[in-house]
Amino acid sequence: MNTKSGYVAIIGKPNVGKSTLMNALLGERLSIVTNKPQTTRKRVLGILSDENYQMIFLDTPGLLEPSYLLQRKLLDFIENSVKDADVLVVIIDILKDPNGEKTLRDEKMQKIIKSEKPKILLINKIDKSNEEILSALVSKIESKKIFDRVIPISATEKFNIKSVQEAILDFLPEGPKYFPDDQITDEPERFFVSEIIREKIFENYKEEVPFSTEVVIEEFSERESRKDFISASIIVERETQKPIIIGKRGEAIKKIGKIAREAIENFLQREVFLELRVKVKPKWRNDKRMLKSFGYDKENE
Ligand code: GDP
Ligand code: MG
Repeated sequence: MNTKSGYVAIIGKPNVGKSTLMNALLGERLSIVTNKPQTTRKRVLGILSDENYQMIFLDTPGLLEPSYLLQRKLLDFIENSVKDADVLVVIIDILKDPNGEKTLRDEKMQKIIKSEKPKILLINKIDKSNEEILSALVSKIESKKIFDRVIPISATEKFNIKSVQEAILDFLPEGPKYFPDDQITDEPERFFVSEIIREKIFENYKEEVPFSTEVVIEEFSERESRKDFISASIIVERETQKPIIIGKRGEAIKKIGKIAREAIENFLQREVFLELRVKVKPKWRNDKRMLKSFGYDKENE
């Protein structure tokens, strides 16, 4: 039997239950989350591997976690995630958006909805709603004929999660598995932490500096009865960029350190100690070996 594999973009406003759904879908079978070197950096939330398929779930930052977005790249990112996805999964929170208008009228959502890709709509949190509201919402959405499937779920109660999996599988194209099935790694936290720092750099420095910056997590250790220790290097290409990152009397880097730490703590849901350093690595973008050490290890890119 041929395997099926592909990217699944999970789209929805903050707090609709994306993370909870991911956990329910992946359960114990979360195999790997890494920074895959692609032309556009994908945020991989998780991968669900089975004998015959592999679903790679993508985060679409604009609609997902507003505090983590690269402001200026926001629309590009969403568009890329949607463009790269094989299947789009949109989540509505029936408690906050009982008639679906808040989600469907959203400007970014309008763009996404126009896409030709298979689209699955999940109505979440039905455990706290009622039959009447739910059936009204289902018929309203079905009558719009935007989505290929409409599935009411409860992510916390794990209700209909199997149906979500089956629906995604129906629309997943045939293809090889992109990731090994069995690899378990602590990469996701490192990856997200470096992405958060990178975002804060994008938000706080002017044009060319962020684009020649990379962030490497040098150390990430849990410490007993103390905060996690994270040491990160901000890699720049030119000696002249270093003082820009650091700022007058270190004020700029101090500010980045503070806002990045807050965002990391918010993401990890625990306190951390964050140490930032700046390193100059001339022309890191062109250096194959160095790119590899940053995780960009695909030979043909
Ligand atoms: P995200 O921001 O979209 O990732 O949302 P989260 O997964 O973090 O969930 C936001 C809040 O909604 C949390 O408090 C969840 O416990 C809650 N939540 C998620 N799914 C459900 C559900 O099916 N039913 C109920 N009642 N609450 C849910
Ligand atoms: Mg979340």
